[in-house]
Amino acid sequence: DPAHPQSEDTKVLDLAQLTDLLERVFLRAGASPDVAAILARNCAGCERDGAASHGIFRIPGYLSSIASGWVDPRAQPRVEDIGAAMVRVDAMNGFAQPALAAARSLVLAKVRDAGAAVLAIRNSHHFSALWPDVEPFADEGLLAISMTNSFACAVPHGAQSPVFGTNPIAYAAPRLGGPPLVADLATSSMSNGDVQIAAREGRQLPQGYAVDGEGRPTTDPQTVLDSGALLTFGGHKGSAISLMIELLGAALTGGQFSFEVDWSAYPGAQTPHTGQLFIVIDPDRGNPGNFAARAETLVERLLDAGMSRLPGTRRYQQREKSERSGIAIPLAAYQRLEQLAAD
Ligand code: NDP
Repeated sequence: DPAHPQSEDTKVLDLAQLTDLLERVFLRAGASPDVAAILARNCAGCERDGAASHGIFRIPGYLSSIASGWVDPRAQPRVEDIGAAMVRVDAMNGFAQPALAAARSLVLAKVRDAGAAVLAIRNSHHFSALWPDVEPFADEGLLAISMTNSFACAVPHGAQSPVFGTNPIAYAAPRLGGPPLVADLATSSMSNGDVQIAAREGRQLPQGYAVDGEGRPTTDPQTVLDSGALLTFGGHKGSAISLMIELLGAALTGGQFSFEVDWSAYPGAQTPHTGQLFIVIDPDRGNPGNFAARAETLVERLLDAGMSRLPGTRRYQQREKSERSGIAIPLAAYQRLEQLAAD
């Protein structure tokens, strides 16, 4: 079947098949059915979109964190209605995505009513990309911004030791002529997942991205993972944004700062236990009936100016390819997942 190029060392699955397999893996690891379904959908979606550092690559980390007792894979989030435009969730030491799912309908009702809403999640573990959290809001015509802090592995500009996490921020906005504009970036020079992938593949990091345990520049990914740290992106500017993410993702939500995450009593723990903030806005309240068209005008100008790749374009192209020809994963990884689902 030419639409499903299956070589000896890859296995091709469609999204439903991969989601089902991952759901069984999470269930087997002790997750509740709700949590297993949400994490599986998230992880399979990352794999489908070629977001390699947050697809099946993350499964060992999820399982090791769950097995260590650090994160509760059966947690039932508690949603609190705080006011006209504010929702809080205690994720109960569970994953952040089920907390978002539990609060989503209340947040949407508040956005429809108030024009905007803030969702503050605390006591949560985020171990994935942020774009799956924000893109669905833009699919409904809304603007969404989200950020989460992680664990101390990035050195603030001018400092000598790591205080910030890789602290990603993402936004999604509807546009008239295409899928939502979605950007999702770590505020460290690169994400931890990419450092791990570079180490695994024996690649050096670019100059100026990281330091060793003594604060000296290094390009060796294993040194960074063992004892070093990343820098923030863009010097003092990225550092200022990362600081904001600590404030909004942790101080505002009631979560831990990245530097407070202490998993030393839980060998194998990998999921940062912090907080996550969302700001969701109905653009019709700012520019009635016109936001998506204005976004399109801007996109056209960007394309005219030679910007052939918008944030999100690579993912959407990979998604289309996966929908056409399936998601190809290395056969060994597939067999390992089947084993984990069955053990
Ligand atoms: P990248 O640097 O790969 O990409 C950042 C953004 O820029 C993406 O929206 C990407 O779009 C876009 N982009 C990349 N290259 C170009 C280009 N040449 N022109 C225009 N746009 C471009 O991401 P990061 O490595 O910073 O982050 C990777 C992931 O790690 C994110 O999904 C983030 O959420 C996640 N992360 C999660 C953490 C957690 O604690 N849970 C911690 C840190 C990071 P596209 O997607 O289409 O490539």
